[in-house]
Amino acid sequence: MADLKYKRVVLKISGEGLCCEGGFGIDADELKRIGSEIKSVHDLGGEVAVVVGGGNIVRGSQIARHAQIEEATGHYMGMLATVINALAIQDTLESMGVATRVQSAVNVDRVCERFIRRRAMRHLEKGRVVIFAAGTGNPFVTTDTGAALRASEINADVLLKATKVEGVYDSDPMKNPEAKRYDKLSYNEVINSRLGVMDVSAIDLCQRNDIPIIVFSLRTANNMRNVVCGEPIGTLVTDKA
Ligand code: UDP
Repeated sequence: MADLKYKRVVLKISGEGLCCEGGFGIDADELKRIGSEIKSVHDLGGEVAVVVGGGNIVRGSQIARHAQIEEATGHYMGMLATVINALAIQDTLESMGVATRVQSAVNVDRVCERFIRRRAMRHLEKGRVVIFAAGTGNPFVTTDTGAALRASEINADVLLKATKVEGVYDSDPMKNPEAKRYDKLSYNEVINSRLGVMDVSAIDLCQRNDIPIIVFSLRTANNMRNVVCGEPIGTLVTDKA
């Protein structure tokens, strides 16, 4: 059994990670790929919590701009979209033989548990993957902040932020082939550079609770397992030397 550098991890997946490039909704192959990555860490004895976004279905501020929908309502719609994604990830993992629980910050009692911190930690200790839905449960923020909050609450060893590219770059690597990837950044460097890695509130929470963030691509096979085993993949955000 490989040595895990990080035993308890929170994986943040954007809703976009569940659909094809530029698409909408949920793609079966993408779900399977994400499930396999999570399973590979679970199989090594890692405690995995997942925070999933909802941008593949609804983004609160966008829908409010384009329709007669109040912005707060749009954000609640976004949170409900994350519940849909969480259920999709749950069944995918269960079909692979991984026990799971979904806990939502907005009560949807017919489909999943409510978020209860101590219960979530007990699930993790018992080897269940816990999928946190509905972000923080409050409008006007994103699931990045939800991920940092849950990571802080459950004493996670690391927050893994999955992106489309292999880390944080000095410019958009999709547009600039010369873009340079950073191996390591401090929390303040990320905040001050406005690289748009995560919300400032999310980075601030991780800094205050001394939780490293690793930005990496979940599209490269076995990346998640290699990251939790300590391989230098993606960009590490920390204040430690
Ligand atoms: N959202 C919210 N509060 C939260 C988390 C999410 O209001 O704590 C809403 C917000 O409108 C957001 C949407 O849910 O746009 C989907 O989440 P997010 O944009 O974080 O998804 P991602 O970009 O990760 O797919």
